[in-house]
Amino acid sequence: SDLKFVDLHEGLNSTMVLLRNNIPKNVEVIYNYGELPKIECFAGKLNQVFLNIINNALNAIKMKPEQGQESLTISTRYLEADKLVSISIKDSGIGMTDKVKEKIFEPFFTTKDVGEGTGLGLSIVFSIIEKHHGRILVESEPGKGAEFIIYLPLHVPIV
Ligand code: ADP
Ligand code: MG
Repeated sequence: SDLKFVDLHEGLNSTMVLLRNNIPKNVEVIYNYGELPKIECFAGKLNQVFLNIINNALNAIKMKPEQGQESLTISTRYLEADKLVSISIKDSGIGMTDKVKEKIFEPFFTTKDVGEGTGLGLSIVFSIIEKHHGRILVESEPGKGAEFIIYLPLHVPIV
C-alpha cells in the first residue's frame, strides 16, 4: 500500500513554507511542538489536511474587521497512554457560530463569497482523517477564533 511512516512536524513545516507569503505581518505563528513518534499515513494526504485547515485559519484572521495582534498556534502532542498523536491548529480569527460549526464538514458548505470558497476543503479533511481512523474536533467562539484538533493513531489498522 502507500502507507509510510512520517514526521508530522516536517509536514507542518513544509505546509507553512508553502503558505509563508499569505501570512500577514500582524500574525504571530506560534509553534508548540511536542516530541512525536513517526506515524503511519497515506503519502502526502496529511499535508493536504494541514494546508486546508491552516488556509482556513489564515482566512478567518484576515476576515476580522479590526486587525490587532493576531495569532496562529500549531501544537502537537503524543498521548502515550492512548497511543495517539494530536495536532491542534488554533487561530484568533472571526470564529463561527454553533450553527455554522455543525455544517463545516459537509461538501460544498461555505460561508465565503462566490469564487472565494468551494466549500470542499474540510470535507476532504474529514475523509482523509477518516481513512486514517482518526478524529477531528472543532471548538470556536464567534469573534474569538477557532481551534481544530486532530487525533491520529500511530498505525492505520489493516481493514
Ligand atoms: P471554504 O474554505 O471553501 O469555505 P471549507 O470546507 O474549507 O470551505 O470550510 C467551510 C466553512 O467552514 C468556511 O466557509 C467557514 O465558514 C468555516 N471555517 C473553516 N475554518 C474556519 C476557521 N478557522 N474559522 C472560522 N470559520 C472557519
Ligand atoms: Mg477552505
